[in-house]
Amino acid sequence: MKHLLSIDDLDRAGIERVLDRAASFAEVAGREIKKVPALRGRTVVNLFYEASTRTSSSFELAAKRLSADLVSIRAASSSVTKGESLKDTIATLTAYDPAAIVIRSPHAGAAQLVAGWTDAAVVNAGDGKHEHPTQALLDVFTLRQKLGSLDGVKIWIVGDVLHSRVARSDILAFTRMGAHVTLSGPPTLIPRGIEALGCDVEPTLDRLPEADVVYVLRMQHERMKEAYVPSLREYAMRYQIDTNRLQPHQVLMHPGPVNRGVELSGDAIDSPQALIGQQVEAGVVVRMAVLYELLAGAGAAKSPIGSVETAVAA
Ligand code: ASP
Repeated sequence: MKHLLSIDDLDRAGIERVLDRAASFAEVAGREIKKVPALRGRTVVNLFYEASTRTSSSFELAAKRLSADLVSIRAASSSVTKGESLKDTIATLTAYDPAAIVIRSPHAGAAQLVAGWTDAAVVNAGDGKHEHPTQALLDVFTLRQKLGSLDGVKIWIVGDVLHSRVARSDILAFTRMGAHVTLSGPPTLIPRGIEALGCDVEPTLDRLPEADVVYVLRMQHERMKEAYVPSLREYAMRYQIDTNRLQPHQVLMHPGPVNRGVELSGDAIDSPQALIGQQVEAGVVVRMAVLYELLAGAGAAKSPIGSVETAVAA
């Protein structure tokens, strides 16, 4: 694998390989000194054109824990604000000979474009409402840790699917790992024809008790040009997940950031059934594994070091 642009870049065995690596890095995360020399002397560029807390900080930590040299660029404080195009920005950064460019953009397809302009490995850290593959990998990692396997697991994804890159990547990853995915939300926020990805659609939460996993999405106001629901109050009445709607056997997930009191009630966020903190924790080791896979794994173009076991042991 040269780039990670979509979950489609990985088959089930590929997802398992990355997550097994992430598990070995989790052992490193438990040490006092959380660093391995795997990517020493390699340069990773983080280029974020959109707001991010979890994804940007975990990619930064991942690169640092692998001992890479890291350049982090936020569009708001870069020459992008002076009118530099994405292509020219990549040309400038390419002069530093980066091994990887991690990019987040408000435009679907941006990561794919960047991959055509650079020799570096490109990681899609979210492109518009298209995909967010590392989020899906960390979600599968979190569920594997909690449930052992996703085979036969019933996962309901609830909320604003229309604007969610997380939903698209998660549907692909969860179904590839053997889970059954059902989408639920207001019909205006469920893309027409999405069943083609291999999932079901339920317009109400009536059958939510059948789910093993309840995965809640944020209302993506920044991508809405019109009103998709009559009011947030009405949305919350019909679709908010609170501890009354949650069954004792269910686990609760959310990619963050949460709109507390809109898609999730405060008591649900803080309940022991919520895996939200575990998802954030998984972000670092999964992103370490993705960078490792692309820059030093078996299929990497240049592989300057030995096996991950050597890297982890070092
Ligand atoms: N953090 C996720 C994303 O960047 C989900 C969200 O923003 O709601 O897509």
